[in-house]
Amino acid sequence: MAVLVICEIYAAVRAQDHGPVQARSTLERMELKHLKTVAAARKRFADERRLLLGRPGLKDLRAVFHVHAEDSPHTGGTLEEVLEACRQTGVRVVFLTDHARKESDPLRPSWRGLHNGVLFFPGVETEGLLSFPVAPTSKPFAKREQYVAELLHGGGLVCLSHVEERLQDAPAGLTGYEIYNAHAEIKEEAAAGLALLGALCDTKQWAMLSYRVKHYGDEWMGALQTYPRLYLSKWDHDSEQRHLTGIAANDAHHNQIYRVVVRNEFSAAITSVENQDLLTLQTAQQPELAPLLRGRKRGEVLLQLDLDPYERSFRNTTTHILAGELSEESIREAVRRGRAYVAHEWLADATGFELIAKGEGRTYEMGDSVELTPGLRVETTAPLNGWFRLIRNGQIVANVKGTSHSFPIQAPGVYRVEVWLEVDGEERPWVYSNPVWVGEQPWESSSVSEEHLQNQGDLVSIAGYSNKSRSSALSAVVSL
Ligand SMILES: [Zn+2]
Ligand SMILES: [Zn+2]
Repeated sequence: MAVLVICEIYAAVRAQDHGPVQARSTLERMELKHLKTVAAARKRFADERRLLLGRPGLKDLRAVFHVHAEDSPHTGGTLEEVLEACRQTGVRVVFLTDHARKESDPLRPSWRGLHNGVLFFPGVETEGLLSFPVAPTSKPFAKREQYVAELLHGGGLVCLSHVEERLQDAPAGLTGYEIYNAHAEIKEEAAAGLALLGALCDTKQWAMLSYRVKHYGDEWMGALQTYPRLYLSKWDHDSEQRHLTGIAANDAHHNQIYRVVVRNEFSAAITSVENQDLLTLQTAQQPELAPLLRGRKRGEVLLQLDLDPYERSFRNTTTHILAGELSEESIREAVRRGRAYVAHEWLADATGFELIAKGEGRTYEMGDSVELTPGLRVETTAPLNGWFRLIRNGQIVANVKGTSHSFPIQAPGVYRVEVWLEVDGEERPWVYSNPVWVGEQPWESSSVSEEHLQNQGDLVSIAGYSNKSRSSALSAVVSL
């Protein structure tokens, strides 16, 4: 069954391949001339952008999911930094996802509620899931199914994360999936990683490297952004069976900070947040290093590259949530219902993007189940002129240019829209809507019920849980 599902997803990926292809490699995009052209395009987009009012009665709130701060040795950033980044980027909602802590670790309280006008949700990343429970819990669960069901039953949100690692995974009742993960992009970019390390090792490249990151940091990070085919294919595939809200994962850690630090007059070390001795540079191999080390004290920093400050991560990609108000309840409800769209906002501010369905006097929002009636249309609008791709059950059924479109809908299916922009000779994805589900809904009889929970005969009782060696321990250790 699992193999079959994966095959179907790959088939869907192939079927989509007639869409725009990435014209440039990431390394090419990182060349100064391309960074400059993209920066000019961003400026043009900012100038040309139309102001849209959005849906009546709904606020368009910028949110970031999958944010790490003060939660693990490999996280470099703090909650205060996150808050400052929100101020700079207009983010109003932060879904924190602390790495699950070992039972021996002391609990550190996460932020919850409003901090300077930004709404924080505490959460945890464990078992390939992002979970945002309503109430604190420290119950260990032996079964992942039980963990998911308990959290959902309590009103929490649970989303599948790092989809590239779990294509066959589809736990019942999930709120949604990551449809983009910024960290997954980096994992795929071995060539860019090696080029970066090579430049850090070569003193002659330092000046250009810091210049590019300092002046074109957003474009540099944006160079890594590709079309998340695998993520979208799984989402499209599974959405034919159930309601799944698509969200973007920033997977922000503020930990891509590299330094070249003086060790002695003959050597320097390249360090990262986690590793104080990533590589050693020696004057014997690199004579150009000698004058840079002369007269320096041990520990002095010769070069620092801060690649992923939170504000850059947050600008890169955001999930816009359409909610009645900025409150925990209202935001949870909007996410659950799929009233959201994802935007690579480093290209252009997407605020005001709309997708609705209209039929027989009724208007439906993103995420809604829509009755198939004569004259039904999907209407969509964006603040910039771009290519609108209408996608039905994972297949592109229309691709038209403009600022808004009204598509007639004559067949049942899961309909969503992507908007692409032309940037430096490439078509780049900018906005991904959540779908509307048109026609009969197959999942309405298969949601997680209380009966389903009780029928899981082999559940290990919470009190009786003793398998402490299991690394995850499913410690739903979420301090709210
Ligand atoms: Zn991490
Ligand atoms: Zn993470």
